[in-house]
Order: sequence, then structure tokens, then C-alpha cells
Amino acid sequence: MTQFDLILKKGHVIDPANGVDAILDVAIAKRRVAAVEPDINPRQAKSLIDLSGKVVVPGIIDPHVHIRNVGHRNMAKVGVVTAVDVSAHMNDVLQGTKAFGTGMNIADITSIHHQIKKPHPSRAELNAMLDDYLTSGALGVKVIQEPLPQETILNAISAANEKAAYVKLDCGVTEEGSNLLGLKWIVEAAGSDLHLDIAHINSYCRGQVKEPVEEALDAIRLIEGKKNIQSESYFGIINGTNGRIVDGVPLNECTRDCLRLGGYPETEEGMKRALLDGYCKVPELVGGETLLLEGAEALKAWLETDQRTVCFPVNIPSVAILLATRKDAKKRFVVNAISTDGGSTPRNLIVNSGLALVRYGALTLSEFVVKTSFNPSRMYGMLDKGGLGVGMDADVTVLDLEKGRAVMGIALGTVIMVDGVVVGRGGTIITTEKGVKHVKATGLPYDVVDLNKCGLYA
Ligand SMILES: [Zn+2]
Repeated sequence: MTQFDLILKKGHVIDPANGVDAILDVAIAKRRVAAVEPDINPRQAKSLIDLSGKVVVPGIIDPHVHIRNVGHRNMAKVGVVTAVDVSAHMNDVLQGTKAFGTGMNIADITSIHHQIKKPHPSRAELNAMLDDYLTSGALGVKVIQEPLPQETILNAISAANEKAAYVKLDCGVTEEGSNLLGLKWIVEAAGSDLHLDIAHINSYCRGQVKEPVEEALDAIRLIEGKKNIQSESYFGIINGTNGRIVDGVPLNECTRDCLRLGGYPETEEGMKRALLDGYCKVPELVGGETLLLEGAEALKAWLETDQRTVCFPVNIPSVAILLATRKDAKKRFVVNAISTDGGSTPRNLIVNSGLALVRYGALTLSEFVVKTSFNPSRMYGMLDKGGLGVGMDADVTVLDLEKGRAVMGIALGTVIMVDGVVVGRGGTIITTEKGVKHVKATGLPYDVVDLNKCGLYA
């Protein structure tokens, strides 16, 4: 009798949400976890995978990525099972998932600049923008654009709060900029009334105001205990920023900051020198992989187009570790989740760097699961994810602790990655009730979340 589609045999299951930490079998049927027991009869399943010696955890959720098509493969390869794109319009995400999808679950938060082109949009215009994003299938909006008036920023957050749309903010949007002062402004301006997710806390601790670790401690003090604020931080040393030059000067403030931090002039000449020296690198797609070009190669690639993304080594490892591990007095993580801000940028390090922290003793394996699956699932109201209880989504990442990486990804019961080889196709879209009609029309499978139950509003 085959009542299960798949049994994962003898893996060490770590599922803190359900208090599980033991060698167990996991049976999967119809995209869901059907049983988690010590010894499930193999004859009850159509197929079986022996995971002796491996660790089985709820599927890794990357709460902040930029997929841009190639990201699907970059993420699936390293064990990510669910990813939230933060910036593209949903229509691009839907098309990209159809063409380049690797079987992951995909959600989207759309950048405000896809619709709002002027600095002082009315509340009606902000509402129309949010309605467009939600009906196209996105979970909400990312407030980013350089810089927006304070009133517009607060209006956009408040409009999203009223509609229970997800709202994420990049402090680069503030007049203070992408630094500790921008973070301080938004936390204080939000008070306890406005609910928001603040992106990549690590990127405001690059040493622009004081010593980076002191900035990280300040950032922790600012957001600690704030029930209306959610956040994530990432491990990558490199950032990803716009390398475009206008009138001899980098257009993007963050790019100018990076040049200054590296001791280069904030000019086109400074960019060229930074590229030749290897301080600035250029991501390039080579044979389906995103590689980082350096030196003369990077300069050549950058000169071929002035719009492309460039990467600087501006993130500080001690800051990343502090933000990934710090807990409050109630033993809850101050920064909710570990992200990558990666996808297309080659810094998809949740598992590899996260497991390095486990090996180091800075996180337990259970805590690793909390930061990389359970907490991000709660941030977005993905209540069927983040654990492996019976009835929950059969999203699984299999870890090899000796290798220090993920060796299998399973999304909704389907194996999408084995030993770094991506075998999945397409993807399941995570949307809200408002986006169902539009997503359904694409023919892609979908799941619905209720954002009233996400961490911002629950
Ligand atoms: Zn980002």
C-alpha cells in the first residue's frame, strides 16, 4: 500500500517549532508532511531517500533576494527552498519563474519606484500603487528610492499598514542615507504606530558614523524590543550597487560611499581605479553561474554598459556575526532572520556561513533553523512553513555538516536540488487573496498567505 509519495529515511530531524531533535523518518504526501516517526514502513511510499548521517531541517527561506532570473539557480544550488524577491515588479517575477524557475517557492515585494516617479505622491496615488502591486500578486511594497521626503516615506508605510500589505524599507531612502543615522531616523519616526520591516541591518554598520561594531551595537539597541519592526541581516562581504556614472560621478549614493570607504575619489576615475585594483568587482554570468570579474576584465565589462551592478567589499564580518547571533533579554533574536540580499548577486551564503557559525559554536543547529526558516516564515505569515509538523508544507533542506553545506532541497514534496545540481523546474508563487486571479492566469501553481497573520500585523 503506498499512502506516501516519498519517505526521507533516518535523517537527523531538527525542527524547533515542533520541539523535534532526533533521528526520524519524514513521510510526504500531496505536497505536505504526512508523518514524522521513528520507523515508517518503506513499502508505504512510492519512493524513498536514505538520509543517514544527514541533517533534515525545514526548508531554508531567504527573506531578501534579487532573483533577476539567474538567481533561481544560484539559490536552489545552495539549499534555499523559498525566496522573497525584493524589488522587481511581480510580472517580471512571474515570467522569470516560468522561464528560469528551479522549483522554489517565490514571493515578491515590489519597489516603490515601479510606479511612483515623483517625490510627493498623494495618498490616493500611494493607495493605487499598493493596489496594483497586490493585485499583480506581490505581498507588498519596498520603500526605496534616493532619497524620498520624510512625509512620503511615512505616508507609504502608513498606507501599506492600512491595507495590511507587507512593507519593507531600505534606509537609503532617508535623507540621512544608508547608514546608522538613516536607521535611527526611521526607527524614531515610526514610533510604535508604524509597522515595517527594515532591510539588511548590516548595511547601516559599515563605519560611516563610528566604528562598525559600535554601529552594530547601536543598531541592536535601536530595534531591540520594537514589536512593530522586523528585520534581517546578511553575511556577504560584498554588496551590490548601481555602477552608473552621470556627468563623471557615480549616480548612486551608496556607490559613492563605497568609493570613499575604500579611499578612492567619488568620480568616474575613482571607479576605474577601484575596478583595476580589484576593490570593485563586476558580477557576470558565465556558463549559468554568476562569477565576480576583477581587474582589467571587470573594467572592460563595466565600460561595456554603464548601468550594471558592481560589488564592493564593504560589509564587516564581525558586524554580520553580531547581528546574526544577538538575542534580547527574552532570548529572542533581535534581528529576526538571516538573509542574503543575493539571488543574482553571488553571495547566497545563508547555509554555508550559517553552518560555519554553528561549527564555531556561535549558533546551535536549532537556532540556525530559527533564523533561516522559522523566523522568516513568521515574518511573512507563511504559517505552513518554518517547521516539519504533520500537515505543514513539505519544504525540506538537507544539510551535510561535514561538508558544511546543503546537499538536497525539497520544495512542496518535490526534490529540486541534489548535491548542488539543480533538478527542479518552475515554481510555486506565494501571493495573497488579492493576487490570486492574476497569478492563476499565468498557470503557475500558487499558495495564499494572509498578511494579517504576518509578523508585522499579527
Ligand atoms: Zn536588496
